[in-house]
Amino acid sequence: METWITAFIVAFLLLNALFDTWLSVLNSKHWPESVPDRIAGVFTADKYIKARSYSRDRNRLSHFMSFFQLALIFILLFSGGFEFIDRLSAGLWSDQIGQSIVFLGILLLASDILSLPFQWYSVFTIEEKYGFNKTTPKIFVADKIKSWLMSAILGGGIFWLLASIYYATPTYFWLLAWGVLTVFSLLMTMFYSNIIVPLFNRQTPLSEGELRDGIEKFAQTNGFRLKNIYVINGSKRSTKSNAYFTGIGPKKRIVLYDTLIEKHTTDEIVAVLAHEIGHFKMKHVTTGFFMSTALNLGIMYLLNIVLTWPEFAGALGMEPSLHASLLVFALLFSPLSMIIGILSNVISRRHEFAADRFAWDHTQTPALADALIKLSVDNLSNPTPHPWYVFVHYSHPPVLERLRALDGFGSSK
Ligand SMILES: [Zn+2]
Repeated sequence: METWITAFIVAFLLLNALFDTWLSVLNSKHWPESVPDRIAGVFTADKYIKARSYSRDRNRLSHFMSFFQLALIFILLFSGGFEFIDRLSAGLWSDQIGQSIVFLGILLLASDILSLPFQWYSVFTIEEKYGFNKTTPKIFVADKIKSWLMSAILGGGIFWLLASIYYATPTYFWLLAWGVLTVFSLLMTMFYSNIIVPLFNRQTPLSEGELRDGIEKFAQTNGFRLKNIYVINGSKRSTKSNAYFTGIGPKKRIVLYDTLIEKHTTDEIVAVLAHEIGHFKMKHVTTGFFMSTALNLGIMYLLNIVLTWPEFAGALGMEPSLHASLLVFALLFSPLSMIIGILSNVISRRHEFAADRFAWDHTQTPALADALIKLSVDNLSNPTPHPWYVFVHYSHPPVLERLRALDGFGSSK
């Protein structure tokens, strides 16, 4: 039985890696000779070649990284590495929950430390080469330390709570744990901008001026009440620009990158803002939250099955324990998590189209289309990704698809 589970884990991981590599090769070959007409005016041949080479550089790095991580898992799996870390944690802590936290902490920290050279290369070699990088080594190190501390406090805390429930009532664990996770993710969705973002960035309410006036005029004409528009200092790390809508209930907010404001006209920013208001009006964040909560119930039920079979832990050569089961669960359900990822991307892309439609209905100008083209050039996004790659990996539709939809709204008027 145990050998079978091990075989399944190995097969799933290999298939996953093969599938991903195949998709990515397909994608990197999918660059037409010349820039598609619709964007050629702004996406110059020069920029197009640059975007292709940027995409290939990033692809190569991500292949290296995936291969390295896979090799690491196999080494741990076949050299008794998991068992060794398990015994090490047992020696460091006497209490069961503490042992689990130490075990998972060592694994997560070690894998992040081992992938540090790749992360460093990505920021200071690739992003630097294409003129995006603004991160200094000091910011990089500070970010790392802050994110480790945050994971230790939040992750350790929530794990401690869940494990306590597990040992107190194993039978109803999965249901209670689902309740705890739902409350936790609700709090995180609500307070993300208040608690997490300020650790890394500065957010300031949008100040008075031409842009604020333009936005207010737009809001008045369309009968929107606009509070909670913030500007974030994205320029601290990168020249890339973006905007997003976040939060739930009274904690909703629209966040514009300072880099977006710097490079776009007032009309374009108003159009981008109209898109974000679309997400807000159509309750996309709330919908996403309820969907993932429903999905989590299923995931917790599957976890419960793994927890009740000690053979699962044996597949990693470990004594049965909560953390051994969790690790097997994470490895064994990698195909499932890929399917969940695809599903959530399908929904997210639909939301993007809907928000674009909303923006068009309320602006009726080519400003959003112009902003999207500009964004894709400035960020050197791949304008022609392979449709299958998009299906699996893209949370936003590629720029040409969005333009096609926007142009369609314009002509059907
Ligand atoms: Zn959007």
